[in-house]
Amino acid sequence: MPLVPMKQILDEAAKKSYGVPHFNVNNMEQAQAIMRSASEVESPVIMAASRGALKYTDLIFIKHLMMACIEKYPKIPVAMHLDHGNGLESVKTAISLGFTSVMMDGSLKEDAKTPTTFDENVKVTKSCVDYAHKVGVTVEGELGTLGGIEDGVGSGQVHLTDPNQVKEFLQKTGVDALAVAIGTSHGAYKFKIKPDPDKNLLAMDVIRKIHSMVPKLHMVMHGSSSVPQELIAQINKNGGKIAPTFGVPLWAIKEGIAAGVRKVNVDTDLRLASTAAIRKVFYESPEKFDPREYLGPARDAMAALVKERYVAFGSAGHAFDYEPATLEDMKKFY
Ligand SMILES: [Zn+2]
Repeated sequence: MPLVPMKQILDEAAKKSYGVPHFNVNNMEQAQAIMRSASEVESPVIMAASRGALKYTDLIFIKHLMMACIEKYPKIPVAMHLDHGNGLESVKTAISLGFTSVMMDGSLKEDAKTPTTFDENVKVTKSCVDYAHKVGVTVEGELGTLGGIEDGVGSGQVHLTDPNQVKEFLQKTGVDALAVAIGTSHGAYKFKIKPDPDKNLLAMDVIRKIHSMVPKLHMVMHGSSSVPQELIAQINKNGGKIAPTFGVPLWAIKEGIAAGVRKVNVDTDLRLASTAAIRKVFYESPEKFDPREYLGPARDAMAALVKERYVAFGSAGHAFDYEPATLEDMKKFY
């Protein structure tokens, strides 16, 4: 049963310089899409649940959805990860459900909106690391704040990560991975103009500087959906109304991975893929009413997108590179 600590997945990715997508999960079709494609291209999996997902699924359903993934695909290493924990209580809840990794987003206060000071961030993050590491669970922290608001998380303002604070933050908290703010944002509305490789839309220099200062750090890019234009077009063609918007292009994510990013968070793209598929069925076949006839195509559309990401980020082909570690192994390590 290779439910593995996320640290192992990231450590192995660092050894071979690739990135691993983090996909958010809220329902069975998403979980199946993520696993089916991982199995096809032999990629390790980071499956994440936000606090919104925990609430939507009444905790217990998400737990068993993830457990079903592991039972159905016993050879694929899977990390179960809490996205944007907002305090020790949320971290404890995730760990009690069997999660092998948690994010403590101490860049924001418990309301998940108000930015914190550096010292407040250190304090709450350290309390989560102390709790999680005792049971072998990986911790991701965040320094700097992202733009956009998703699932009620976000200050709506961007504060880029200050590379000069990173070393001190790592020493004081002991986190295993760090989300960095480089100008990405949550949600579908990231950029109003098409990102241009010559225009520094993202602060790649921040990533490069941090990497040169702490080369062993696993950096995480949040808000990294690519918002494929063909999906927006398909949604709008079939009765949707999504304003013009652009995401983080795959070339920019690849630049990040080359500079030390090991985990790339993708949520919006799966929402767009499923919505596009469902709208198409509804528009073209208004007589249909069996949920399997639209959730099935939604699942296929998500699986195709997920597969593309495993390949683009470089995690495809690496599922069987290593022996799965356990939380017991990690307890000894910490
Ligand atoms: Zn995020």
